[in-house]
Amino acid sequence: MKTKESVKCSFCGRNAKDVTGLIEGPEKIFICDFCVDSAVDILRHNKVSSLELQERHELPKPSEIKSYLDEYVIGQDYAKRVLSVAVYNHYKRIRSNEARSGKNDIELEKSNILFIGPTGTGKTLMAKTLAKFLKVPFAIADATTITEAGYVGDDVETVLLNLLQNANYNVEAAQRGIIYIDEIDKIGRKSESSSITRDVSGEGVQQALLKILEGTRSGVPPKGGRKHPEQPLIYIDTTNILFICGGAFEGMEKVIATRLKNSTIGFTAEAGETVEENLALLKHAEPQDLLKFGFIPEIIGRLPVLAALEELTDSALLDILTRPKNAIIKQFEKLFSLENVEVEFTSDALEAIVAKAKLRKTGARALRSIVEESMLNVMYEVPDKKNLEKVIITKEVFSENAEPQYIYKKNKQTA
Ligand code: ADP
Repeated sequence: MKTKESVKCSFCGRNAKDVTGLIEGPEKIFICDFCVDSAVDILRHNKVSSLELQERHELPKPSEIKSYLDEYVIGQDYAKRVLSVAVYNHYKRIRSNEARSGKNDIELEKSNILFIGPTGTGKTLMAKTLAKFLKVPFAIADATTITEAGYVGDDVETVLLNLLQNANYNVEAAQRGIIYIDEIDKIGRKSESSSITRDVSGEGVQQALLKILEGTRSGVPPKGGRKHPEQPLIYIDTTNILFICGGAFEGMEKVIATRLKNSTIGFTAEAGETVEENLALLKHAEPQDLLKFGFIPEIIGRLPVLAALEELTDSALLDILTRPKNAIIKQFEKLFSLENVEVEFTSDALEAIVAKAKLRKTGARALRSIVEESMLNVMYEVPDKKNLEKVIITKEVFSENAEPQYIYKKNKQTA
């Protein structure tokens, strides 16, 4: 590095004394730290843009989208199909509207998606995995933290800001991104009866969300919040952003069962007893059922694609532990292998994890914490053990906090 006063940056012309560092290349070419920073920004920007191009030219087919989801998300076949088709149509719509030539061409409307299903069944995972596959920016928002005027919680612009940040501030890329809004059921009125005293705040949030769902040009403060009121706004058009909303919608089965019973189809079921029955009912969900959860009709109109997710069965939970590309057990095997130790979870142990998880009633969400909690002691002790070859994790590790079986290289003694 040369920092003589006379030397200048060959790119911006800054003098050596005005910069922190100058890097010398061949033939008396220099680059300063400012230009290195800008170069990195430009390259990052180009990278996102080229990903965007890839998305535009090679639109994956619904079957390809679903196959990718299958690698990470267990079960939920129905929801995966609905999502794959909806997403395919969404990006096709963007292309078609861009290519629209005459006034008479039909403009395709955006179809945002609503996931209905219990907590921990893969709603967020599915949206996240999809964004990863499509290589588009992705952001998650929690509907309950969004407030109407933005005094206590976040306002809708914060949701867009998260997306913009995840797109490395590339507005073009952000405008084609995916936003997952969790707990959407919580912003409806609590019950139908409370409609007498209109839940104005819930409605205000719905109105605010409605704008971005249907497509608006929204001014986003790049640094977020109201702390920097002087900052210039970045404008994001939400027309082509795909919104996926998700909620548990407890009691939805009953609402559907009642409607079907009253209709000509002659459905006899009350509410489903089994997972299969409930899913069969949820597949009949119609936008009008959302009225019962206190949604304004305009929001319902903007979420035309409904996809039901099923409660995870024991065997699905077992699969989640071991099958997905980044399954929890695979991750532990990898961690131990870095320690040069083999780890084996017995099938009883896996069943014990599932049994414990079911008690927590948070779907697959509980699996990881249960494994982490019980493995803590093992993870603490393994690095201290010499000549350790293998650890066998038995069901007692989970059910009784017992020690696992340690198998050593020499003498094969167990501790
Ligand atoms: P929610 O339906 O509440 O949005 P999430 O998608 O956040 O649930 O799931 C929580 C965690 O549980 C995920 O990170 C994932 O590890 C696991 N999980 C949930 N459902 C599935 C599934 N169907 N397949 C694989 N993993 C799942």
